Amino acid sequence: MKEHKDKKPTQKPSRPGTQIMSAILIFMVIVVLYSAISKPDEKIAQFTLSDVAKNITENKIDKIVVEGEKVNIDLKDGTKAEAKKEPESALSDTLVRYGVTPAQLNTTPIEIKNESGFGYWLLNILPFALPVILVVFFIWMLTRQVKGAGMQAFNFGQSKARITDPNDINNRVTFKDVAGAKEAKIELEEIVDFLKNPKKFLDIGAKIPKGVLLTGAPGTGKTLLARAVAGEAGVPFFHLSGSEFVEMFVGVGASRVRDLFKMAKKASPAIVFIDEIDAVGRVRGTGVGGGNDEREQTLNQILVEMDGFEPNEKVIVMAATNRSDVLDPALLRPGRFDRRVVLDLPDRADREAILAIHCIKKPLEKDVNIKVIAERTPGFSGADLSSLMNEAAILAARENHKMVSQFDLVRSIEKVMMGPERKSHILSKKEKEITAYHEGGHALVASCLEYADPVHKVSIVSRGNAGGYTLKLPLEDKRLHSKKEFLDDIAMSLGGYVAEEMIFGDITTGPSNDLQVATNLARAMVTRWGMSTSIGPIALESDGGKTMFGRGVNDNEYSERVSGLIDEEVSKIMNNAFEVARTVLTEKREVLDAIAKKLIEVETLEQDEYNEVIKSFGITPKLREETKNS
Ligand code: ADP
Ligand code: MG
Ligand code: ZN
Repeated sequence: MKEHKDKKPTQKPSRPGTQIMSAILIFMVIVVLYSAISKPDEKIAQFTLSDVAKNITENKIDKIVVEGEKVNIDLKDGTKAEAKKEPESALSDTLVRYGVTPAQLNTTPIEIKNESGFGYWLLNILPFALPVILVVFFIWMLTRQVKGAGMQAFNFGQSKARITDPNDINNRVTFKDVAGAKEAKIELEEIVDFLKNPKKFLDIGAKIPKGVLLTGAPGTGKTLLARAVAGEAGVPFFHLSGSEFVEMFVGVGASRVRDLFKMAKKASPAIVFIDEIDAVGRVRGTGVGGGNDEREQTLNQILVEMDGFEPNEKVIVMAATNRSDVLDPALLRPGRFDRRVVLDLPDRADREAILAIHCIKKPLEKDVNIKVIAERTPGFSGADLSSLMNEAAILAARENHKMVSQFDLVRSIEKVMMGPERKSHILSKKEKEITAYHEGGHALVASCLEYADPVHKVSIVSRGNAGGYTLKLPLEDKRLHSKKEFLDDIAMSLGGYVAEEMIFGDITTGPSNDLQVATNLARAMVTRWGMSTSIGPIALESDGGKTMFGRGVNDNEYSERVSGLIDEEVSKIMNNAFEVARTVLTEKREVLDAIAKKLIEVETLEQDEYNEVIKSFGITPKLREETKNS
């Protein structure tokens, strides 16, 4: 798995001006301190003007330098002195007034210096300037902060898109990182081709698809594939999740959309990827749920932006969802997300390929056979498989192994499926017995019904929420399911319930989940798949089922009569299944006893052990193709 380090384009580095300003400030402070400290060190005698006059008459002075009001005196004996003169009058006039004769004055050279030295200015101005500078600096800091806050408020409407740089080789995802999904890849090649050489397409007058919608169950690799397209094409990838558009305030989402598209156009050719678009793209105008206005505005803005593309803008919008059934039809019309790529759950070969990708960086024991793991994981998504590999590695590491073994992988399958084993969850003797009969009931019904899947493992060790579990695996990957399979499946789900009632004459809360699963299945058979004879081929509910929000408001518009009929049909199916299960378990009571006894003894029965038990009573276990051949 790859980590993606995303960069936020909206963050700016701190301005260099700040550093220069503070450097200058510090420098000034140092200068002031220095001059303040160093002055008293110079041992210069302070003369009054009469002292100066006296020294001149005594001819002790070598030279006088006048600098503004300051009078620097060099005495003939090498010492220096300082005096202050009156600001307005000239020094010579003053001295004459102190009784120095003009002749004496002539013998003493007086130099008048222009007061313009840098140090002079600095020292004279600084005491006044410093507070001003400080105040200005303070105000500047304040405004900067206000501006920062303002920037944040401004950011609010800015898109929070994360950009993946095409030159970032380390984080680059390509089609090689995506296993299986062949059709999807072929479809997306076209997009890659366009992003790489748009001219070819434009020259021939072809309109470039603006939007690609990836749909598929969670974890089937939609996000991964979108990244891979960007990686293959080598273009910037703007990644944003649908929910990130929606904020408390109306209009923010729309402004974020605008911003996102502006950024993308600047960087074109580029890909804009809106993950989980159903968060904003649900059917509009249902008026259910809060924040609807905001969502609608956001969606409208997306539509406007997509319409606003010029054909040569070279920005392709990709979106992903696992609920394409709830999307607004306006999103799906030509010129918007007209390309649809469906990602299925991986089949056996694809699962093997996905496992192979995810074990690349993990050292594997020689006994590892990912083919077997792939066989045992029907219904696993890419994300499940990647998690399986990771769990196996964690298990191996925790037991201080240097390499991942097949056993680690097998154990991880169940962990990913049902959560960790809870060995500490100790059952009382009675509970253990009930659980054993319950699971035995499931397993035995499954083994005896023609269309049920073969039993793979039975256990009374609790895992996740389940007290015990019976794993069954289909003989092959199935895309289609038949009515007969469903009926047997429901009967198998009721096996536990029947067994409890039969053996103990009482029912625990254990089968509650079984009942839910079975009832939902029966209901779906009646209302969605037209599998009931008295209601016939009508779909009363859509695939999404009844939903409180978004669409689905109209789903329930069948009459009281039909509603009653549905309930009747569902309970008919359930009761039939109950009878089937009871017949099986009553007839095969001694097999059930044997399975339960064995379970109480060893707690977990693997497929072979379980098959041994039922074979000894003359029941032929169902076997998978692969196992049969070998
Ligand atoms: P989705 O967006 O469809 O819910 P993701 O793309 O986020 O699923 O997939 C989650 C993870 O599962 C990926 O990061 C990847 O590790 C793994 N994965 C899913 N599908 C595949 C695949 N076809 N090949 C390799 N890895 C996959
Ligand atoms: Mg995703
Ligand atoms: Zn059960």
